[in-house]
Amino acid sequence: MKKARYILILCFAILSALFSSCKNVPHTHSFDQTEIVTPNTCQAGGEIIRKCSCGEGEIFKTAPKSHLLADWEDNGSEYVKVCTLCGETVGSERIYTYLSEGLTFERDLRSDHYSVAGIGKCTDAVVVIPAEFNGTPVTKIGNHAFKDCENIEAIIIPDSVTEIGNAAFEDSSVKRIFIPDSVTKIGNGAFSQCNALSQLILPNSLKSIGKAILKGARNIEKVILPQGLSILPDSAFAYSSIVSLSLPEGLEKIEDSAFTNCWSLKEICLPDTLTEIGSEAFADCTSLTDLILPDSVTHLGKAAFSGCTSLSSVNIPDGVTSLSSEIFYNCESLKKIYLNANLNAIDGSSFLGINLAEAELLIPKENKNFYLIGSSLIGRNPDTVVIGSADGTIPTDEHITRLGNGAFIDRRDLTHIVIPKNITHIGGGAFSGCTNLVSISYEGTVAEWEKVFLGVVWYNGYGVSSVKCSDGEAKIEFKK
Ligand SMILES: [Zn+2]
Ligand SMILES: [Zn+2]
Repeated sequence: MKKARYILILCFAILSALFSSCKNVPHTHSFDQTEIVTPNTCQAGGEIIRKCSCGEGEIFKTAPKSHLLADWEDNGSEYVKVCTLCGETVGSERIYTYLSEGLTFERDLRSDHYSVAGIGKCTDAVVVIPAEFNGTPVTKIGNHAFKDCENIEAIIIPDSVTEIGNAAFEDSSVKRIFIPDSVTKIGNGAFSQCNALSQLILPNSLKSIGKAILKGARNIEKVILPQGLSILPDSAFAYSSIVSLSLPEGLEKIEDSAFTNCWSLKEICLPDTLTEIGSEAFADCTSLTDLILPDSVTHLGKAAFSGCTSLSSVNIPDGVTSLSSEIFYNCESLKKIYLNANLNAIDGSSFLGINLAEAELLIPKENKNFYLIGSSLIGRNPDTVVIGSADGTIPTDEHITRLGNGAFIDRRDLTHIVIPKNITHIGGGAFSGCTNLVSISYEGTVAEWEKVFLGVVWYNGYGVSSVKCSDGEAKIEFKK
C-alpha cells in the first residue's frame, strides 16, 4: 500500500516536472497552423486562429465575402438585385418610362447595329438609352460616348446592349448607372475618373472587364464584381476611393497595380481560388490593416504590398516559394510576418523600411532553407545573412560566411558595425544607404580583409573611410 502511494507520488512528480519543463521550453512560436473559428459570410466578417504547435494561438479577423447576386428583377417600379445567399437587396434602379432624345448614333456596317456615339442635343439628367434607333437594335455604348459629359446624373442602358466601349463614361458626372445582364464586354477605362459615381454593380454576364475600369474614381464606395470573373485587370481600382471589396470566388489573378494608391481601402476579401497577385497590386494602400492571403496563392509580384503603412501582419501562403524585391517595402507597422516552410528565396530588399526591432519574422522549423538567429534571417548553403538583425549585430557562428545583397540596406539606425572574421563575402548594397555609420570594424587582419569579396556598392559611405581590422586599418576604396 505504502509502495503504491510512493509510486503514485513519484509518477505525479515526474509528470509535473515533464509538464512544466515542456511548458518552459523557450522557443520562437511559428504560428503555421490555421483554423477557421467563425467563417465569414456575405454580411459579416469571420475569425481565424493561427496556432503554434505548442498550443499558443492568435486570432485574426477576416473580411466579409461577396454576395451572390441573381439577375435584375422587375418589381413593377424598380429593377432590384437580391443576394441568393443572404436575401439582402443589394441594388435597385427606378424604371424610367421615357426614352431620351437627341443622342447621336453610329451605324456599325459590319453588324448592321447601332452604337450610341454621344450625348448630342440630349439635355436629360437621367439618360434613358433606347433599345432601337431607326428600327435597328442599339447594341453598344461607343468608345468615349459620354466621356467628359458634365450634366448627366444617371444612365439607363437597355438590354439590347452587349458592349460598353473604352472610356465610354471617363471623367463624366455620372452618379448611377444601370447595366443589364445582356452586357458581356466592358472596355478599358470605361468608368475611370467618374468622380461622382458611388456604386457600380457589374452583371454576372461579364466574363472579363477592361483595364483601369474605375481608375481614379474618387467617390466610389460599393462595387459588386461579376461572379465569373477570373482576372482582375491592370489598374482596375488604382487611385480610387474604394473602402472595402470582396473579390468573387473563381478569381485567379489580380494583375499589376490593380489597387495601387487606394488610400481608403481598409478591407478586402480574397477568394481561395486566387493564385497570383501582380507587381505593386496593393502598393501604397495606406489604410489596409489586415490582409489574409489564401492558401491558393503561389505568386506574389514585386513590391506587391509596398507602402502599406498600416498593415500589421501578413502570412505567406505555403505555395509561395520566393519573396520578390521590395514586396513589403516601408510597411512600417508590420509586427508579424508569417513565413512558410517552403520558401527558398527571399530578396534582401523584401522587408526594406520595416522596423525589424518591432517586427517579428516567424519561420516554421520545417523550413530547410532559412532559419533565425535572434532577428537575423539566415539562408543556408552557403549560410548567408539575408536580412540583418534589428540591432545590427552579425552572428559570429562559424558556418555563417556571407552577408547577402542588401542585408543592411538603408539601415539609418546603425552607427557601428562589427563584421565577424568568418565573413568572406559581402553582397552588393549590403550597407548602402547606412548614412549614419561612424565605424566599420572587422575582426580579422588587414590581409584577411583584403581577401573578402565586396559586392557592388557594398557601402556608399559618407561617414567611414576605413575598416578597423585587428592589426590596423584598411582603406575603403570607392569606385569612381
Ligand atoms: Zn509556440
Ligand atoms: Zn449576401
